[in-house]
Amino acid sequence: MEKRLQEIEQRIEKACNKIGKQRDEITLVAVSKTYSVEHIQKVMQKGVENFGENRVQELICKQEVLESQVKWHLIGHLQTNKVKYVVGTVDLIQSVDSIKLAEEIQNQSIKKECVTKILIQVNIAQELTKYGFIKKDVIEAVKKIAKLSNVKIEGLMMIAPYVENAEENRSIFKELYKLSVDIQKQKIDNVSMRFLSMGMSNDFEVAIEEGANMIRIGTAIFEQLNN
Ligand SMILES: *Cc1c(COP(=O)(O)O)cnc(C)c1O
Repeated sequence: MEKRLQEIEQRIEKACNKIGKQRDEITLVAVSKTYSVEHIQKVMQKGVENFGENRVQELICKQEVLESQVKWHLIGHLQTNKVKYVVGTVDLIQSVDSIKLAEEIQNQSIKKECVTKILIQVNIAQELTKYGFIKKDVIEAVKKIAKLSNVKIEGLMMIAPYVENAEENRSIFKELYKLSVDIQKQKIDNVSMRFLSMGMSNDFEVAIEEGANMIRIGTAIFEQLNN
């Protein structure tokens, strides 16, 4: 596992060098879904601070053990009836895919007197998941959600299709980057585009080259641990 992480670090650095970015401009989120708390602790010991989970129940179980040592990211579809379990306990909800969900995050954030940071999930590839705003609806959705006082949009997130050849995803990474620049230009109050979350185990280098500054890596970090 240590070797795997080092390898990933080297690959991130290489991709950064290629485009003149510093390593510390990229946030690595280790996607720990299906992996145990012990596995997470091993990765934490190597200095990884951000972990991503896609199911609320699993997230809660792990939070109980690890308490506040971890910055948690919710990266899977969130049902409105489960929002109350994650508001105030996660660092970033990356998978906001409807206005209704954002409104419930607002309600729960008011109750807990906190501001919840979110990313807007965009569905550019459409084949892989039914979740996420389609591209033409994103700017209008951002403007609506921006009006919610206790919800803070911090960027965009996309789940690209699984491809053997990462190059196949280059054009949709470009598309999402361009969309984030377009939104940035509109200077909408209460909206920042500081995070562009795209790129997973099989395509993160291409994602970084195309402007990702948050990558979500599961298999490439954890895989061997289960063997
Ligand atoms: C599982 C998952 C990942 C990580 O995928 P790997 O291919 O294992 O790196 C990233 N993002 C989301 C939303 C996921 O569900």
